[in-house]
Amino acid sequence: MSSFTPSGLIVAHHGISVEVLFDSGQRRMVRVKRNSGHVVGDNVIVTGEVLKRLPRRTELQRRDARGGIHLVGANLDVLGIVVAPLSPGGFIDRAIVAAQSAQLQPFLVVNKCDLEGTSELLEELKRVYSGSVQIFPISAAERSGLAPLEEFLSGGHRGAFVGTTGVGKSSLLNALCPEIDLKVGSLSEYKGMGRHTTTVSTLHALAGGGELVDTPGFRDFGLVDITVEELAEFFPGFEAHRDVACKFRNCRHRTEPGCAVLELVGQGRIPAERYATYMEILKEVETLQAAARSRDWKNN
Ligand code: GDP
Ligand code: ZN
Repeated sequence: MSSFTPSGLIVAHHGISVEVLFDSGQRRMVRVKRNSGHVVGDNVIVTGEVLKRLPRRTELQRRDARGGIHLVGANLDVLGIVVAPLSPGGFIDRAIVAAQSAQLQPFLVVNKCDLEGTSELLEELKRVYSGSVQIFPISAAERSGLAPLEEFLSGGHRGAFVGTTGVGKSSLLNALCPEIDLKVGSLSEYKGMGRHTTTVSTLHALAGGGELVDTPGFRDFGLVDITVEELAEFFPGFEAHRDVACKFRNCRHRTEPGCAVLELVGQGRIPAERYATYMEILKEVETLQAAARSRDWKNN
């Protein structure tokens, strides 16, 4: 028994207990405090009833409309951003920036392609995002378009889907992992009874390879701890800026002389709509940074 190290992976979270899959293949429930901060996907060492979390490879956070910070997932490699007609604007951009700055590869899933009118949305999204991320048009309801997605996930190791409530994340997870059986069209953060507070969050191994973690639906994807530099580096549509530097290293791409972004906008290599959306999110990031700085200042 000398080589026994009780390390494993949290594969389910039930609020007051977690299920750990040990390296040996055994599974066991371990009790945790309600706000222990452990999440599905965490690697842990278990000694008796005590969990010790190992350092996370990646950590994806988001901010809700009230400013609360939530962990979307730990040790994820890819992030599927699910959209459908009537999805709110800005969600995709924030999720792409957040994912890339946390070293996750984002991709876009356009659901409900069986509905009339979705083709316009799809064309629009392709126009704006095909230079930045891979796009998967699907219908979870009709189970169509899933094969390319499954193939992508099989190489992506561990992923999760985010999207506002109602876009069809539960339907998609059910289609990809038939054993999961999530309730469709039932709970939402909006109604104040989110799945994440009451029921299980789980990690599923896909038949064709890869793993998926189910995340609750939410309305907002506010950025957390993103610098202005990161925003511009990861902003979808700004890829051309990676090859041309601005005159000033700390350029915010507003009105600075020698700004490469402004020049690229002028040349049409960064679309005007992308630049306008960047400016909106820039204001948010600056407000958050100023708030963080004054907090640090008060605490020192
Ligand atoms: P979630 O809140 O993102 O988990 O979304 P759900 O999976 O609960 O789905 C919300 C609603 O959209 C339900 O009424 C589903 O039946 C419906 N829905 C999900 N996927 C599709 C789809 O591909 N096509 C159509 N037409 N409806 C869908
Ligand atoms: Zn600039």
